[in-house]
Amino acid sequence: MARHAGTLASSYDKLMAKAEDITTLQTIESIVHWDMETKMPPKGINLRSQQLAMLSQIEHRMSTNPEIEVLLSKIEKHPDCDSLSELQKRNVYLIRKQYDEQTKLPEELVVKTARQRAITIDVWKKAKAAKNFSMFKPDLEKLLELRKKAAEILMQVKATATPYDALIDIFEPKMTAETIVKIFGELKGGLVSIIAKCLSGPRQPDTSFLKRKIPFDVQRKISNELAQFIGYDVESPKAGGRIDETEHPFTTGYYDDVRITTHYYEDNLASSLFSVLHEGGHAIYGQNLKPEWMYQPIGDSCSLGIHESQSRFVENIVGRSREFWVYFFPKLKKLTGKALSNVALDDFVRAINRVKPSKIRVEADEVTYGLHIIIRFEIERELIAGKIAVADLPEIWNQKYKEYLGVEIENDSEGVMQDTHWASGYFGYFPTYALGNIYDGQLLTALERTMPNWREQIANGSFHDVKRWLIENVHHYGNLYEPAVLLKKVTGKEINVKPYLEYLNKKYSWIYGY
Ligand code: ZN
Repeated sequence: MARHAGTLASSYDKLMAKAEDITTLQTIESIVHWDMETKMPPKGINLRSQQLAMLSQIEHRMSTNPEIEVLLSKIEKHPDCDSLSELQKRNVYLIRKQYDEQTKLPEELVVKTARQRAITIDVWKKAKAAKNFSMFKPDLEKLLELRKKAAEILMQVKATATPYDALIDIFEPKMTAETIVKIFGELKGGLVSIIAKCLSGPRQPDTSFLKRKIPFDVQRKISNELAQFIGYDVESPKAGGRIDETEHPFTTGYYDDVRITTHYYEDNLASSLFSVLHEGGHAIYGQNLKPEWMYQPIGDSCSLGIHESQSRFVENIVGRSREFWVYFFPKLKKLTGKALSNVALDDFVRAINRVKPSKIRVEADEVTYGLHIIIRFEIERELIAGKIAVADLPEIWNQKYKEYLGVEIENDSEGVMQDTHWASGYFGYFPTYALGNIYDGQLLTALERTMPNWREQIANGSFHDVKRWLIENVHHYGNLYEPAVLLKKVTGKEINVKPYLEYLNKKYSWIYGY
């Protein structure tokens, strides 16, 4: 038995060493991506797509190395396999899942996809600037075909009902389109009714002062103050974060090096305020995964939906609450000088929460946002199923925007070409944004049970205990559980739209006086 135990332990250790190498390589890829978005000169694009293709090839080779299969088999067939701890078993499961999926994808397909992805993103940027969908169409078609091929293969490995479910599983493990249809149906009904009440509410917010010009250097100072509030260190000698500037804000990194970006608009202070809080929410999740689990598969985040629940918790539930501004508004006034001196607290809180159906997802308010996601989900589901073609996208997109949000799309740059996701080949990603909001409603209910005074703490300028709660109940579980299991563990419930809709109703009835 002792000899067997020795073999099991050494196989496990060898397997974990391989997982560590793959994780390290992934962190290199994310830095190269980060550089592409923040610092790379324009001419570097061809070289960069070559570099990214090579990195993805190396990663694919490392993660399909037959030695992994040998080690996995040794562990799985070992008579003492059951003696592995829950954590070890989950690591083995995650490596097995990854290995089986990766080995079924031909290397040629992986490399072609990486190259096509870089090209399509570049073309998308140019087509968007030119407001010309036909420029974008051929490369999007190529990328979609590659992703459909991958989805067909992954559907077999993951044993999902449809190719689209296999793509969803990449971002939100074990979630299915069938479940999403059901919960998005409830979400849509709830949102439409809240939007109607807001639009006809007796107290319409004045947002004109949000257009007042705030110099970039002042906005950068505000960003640092916000980062400080949520405990995202970007300034000290021991900082594990930094804030850079890009067209679209994003977060990237791992444990000790998690970076965010934002975009400053001189006449739109709210844009960077909330993108810093949003990305900061992602960043503190990344930084507060369990240190002992670093480099292990369980030391990763749970899913994109759970990730989004963390960013939106910080951005919306905390950052757009009246309590946060009780604390932060005097600071903001001080930093912005005359610009906001004659604005009252409640008027400011109402302005930053104004509900207004619009064309652009990333500028959408908390309530209409979900409808932008539902539109994308419905379209990409049909796209992957082959029921609609890339050529049909602008027309279908514009129809749905008219129908769901009542807005008229005038050109494809503010329509179907507004997001980078499809240009990046990320089909199956969009639903996670709305799932994050829904999870938040449930997390908020759980938080309120254990910390009924959390709003007072925020008003007093302390995010500490709320953050601790998020760390203990979400961050520290890393990737130990599937998202649905984690949700149940923390909230005691399956996914449920009601708490989120109740949260919105309560908040917006105050804002709009309905
Ligand atoms: Zn996000």
